Amino acid sequence: MKKKIAIIGAGIAGLAAGCYGQMNGYETEIFEMHCIPGGLCTAWERKGYTFDGCIHWLMGANPDSMFYESWKEVGALEGKEFVNHEYIVQIENPSGEKLILYTDIHQLEKHLLELSPTDERIIKELADAVRKFKDIRLASKDPDLMKYFGITVGDFVQRFNSSFLREALLSFAPREYKAFSLIFQLAVYNNRDACWPVGGSLEFARRIEKRYLELGGKIQYQAKVEEIIIKDHRAMGIKLADGTTCESDFVISAIDGYTTIFRILKGKYIDDEIQTLYKNSKTSKTSIQISLGIDCDLSDQPYFVNTLLETPLRIGNNECNQVLIRNYCYDKTLCPSGKSVVTTLIYTDFEYWNELYKDQKAYGLEKKKAAKQFIEIFEKRFPKAKGKIEVIDVATPVTYARYTNVWQGSYCGWMFPAGKIPTTLPGFAGFYMAGQWTQPTGGLPTALMTGKGSIMRVCMEDGKAFRTCME
Ligand SMILES: Cc1cc2nc3c(=O)[nH]c(=O)nc-3n(C[C@H](O)[C@H](O)[C@H](O)COP(=O)(O)OP(=O)(O)OC[C@H]3O[C@@H](n4cnc5c(N)ncnc54)[C@H](O)[C@@H]3O)c2cc1C
Repeated sequence: MKKKIAIIGAGIAGLAAGCYGQMNGYETEIFEMHCIPGGLCTAWERKGYTFDGCIHWLMGANPDSMFYESWKEVGALEGKEFVNHEYIVQIENPSGEKLILYTDIHQLEKHLLELSPTDERIIKELADAVRKFKDIRLASKDPDLMKYFGITVGDFVQRFNSSFLREALLSFAPREYKAFSLIFQLAVYNNRDACWPVGGSLEFARRIEKRYLELGGKIQYQAKVEEIIIKDHRAMGIKLADGTTCESDFVISAIDGYTTIFRILKGKYIDDEIQTLYKNSKTSKTSIQISLGIDCDLSDQPYFVNTLLETPLRIGNNECNQVLIRNYCYDKTLCPSGKSVVTTLIYTDFEYWNELYKDQKAYGLEKKKAAKQFIEIFEKRFPKAKGKIEVIDVATPVTYARYTNVWQGSYCGWMFPAGKIPTTLPGFAGFYMAGQWTQPTGGLPTALMTGKGSIMRVCMEDGKAFRTCME
């Protein structure tokens, strides 16, 4: 008889764990509280418009990428079309200066030199570092690239003479981040490993769900796990909110780490390291997403603009001095022909929105206010769309938490983890964790690889050789 694995969560990590579990001869069942797969990798439809809530850059669709084989194994790339952009973003300031952050580093270098010839030395240094960065595994062993771990983006950018280039680059990569992260981002685009999957995030997740079901996996939707069944400090199955139980030989939790450790397991299996991690670490930022459905074709307009503001906006309890406008004109599947989808993501504070949510009227008003402010800026930059907005949708950090349980609405997991991140818990057998909370900086490749890793660990415990296809 096959051994059974109960997997909590049908986000990308849970789906990946499911696929690899099936490939390795286990009977797996995924329990997902929502009614769709994908978790944070999602999209939603409003009056014929699809508003995408996740992917801006997907790593791994390029055959040279270290994630390519794994995405292929879980069926994510099958029959999919991908868009590689010509530029990452167009950064514009109120004085009319414009930096086009081309994905091709030669083109970007030329453009930067045109904008600021006196910055030739630092521009060449940046371009050379980006050209050298072929793969994170090689880059992390290369002293010429590792030196950028020793300085921040702020330190690096300070060396530019052009105040506009300083301002523009800081709007792309936060000042306090390591300079390595700026080079990494530019390199990933230059290596054509940061693309958009046509159809969007939910459609992408559905591909993996399809593969999982084809492999014989089972998923229960609207099945919220409230308890892990424990016998002699070993995970023996799960219990759902409606009281149903499912016995298993192993349990993999592919959901939010805080929920797993402190809510479901009630802090029973922790040590000082885990406590410190969850108490002192910085989680990734969270945002408000404003999405617009527009009765106007914006395909002749730029697809991604960052407008630097003269007067900062106040969204929630934060001031923001830049507004990103993403025009999804490169994907015709997201709305009827002749129409357009536009979104913005603005960093904000989870606690503020969580508190406001208790007063539904005030929460609704604040969402409306945020949308109004964004629309003013959007219509000024894209006058063609003025008066043609027919759908407005606002998702706040509370929305992420409500739909996926994600701790503090932090949709990329840890930013600066204060300690080792666990994938198992002390004194608790038969139990593994996967997903963005088990590796720093989160993201879809992390979800994929940690889902895969959780099955490798199960195989190891079980004395089996791990494999990546059915035999
Ligand atoms: C706005 C935004 C932009 C992003 N942009 C990118 C990008 O461009 N590139 C990139 O790589 N990544 C991006 N990400 C991050 C990426 O989406 C996440 O890091 C990744 O999807 C996390 O996957 P996961 O499987 O670890 O967790 P999740 O997606 O959180 O999945 C967990 C699943 O578990 C379910 N669940 C939770 N609690 C329970 C319970 N008790 N019982 C049953 N089910 C439960 C949830 O409903 C969810 O489906 C973005 C995210 C957002 C929101």
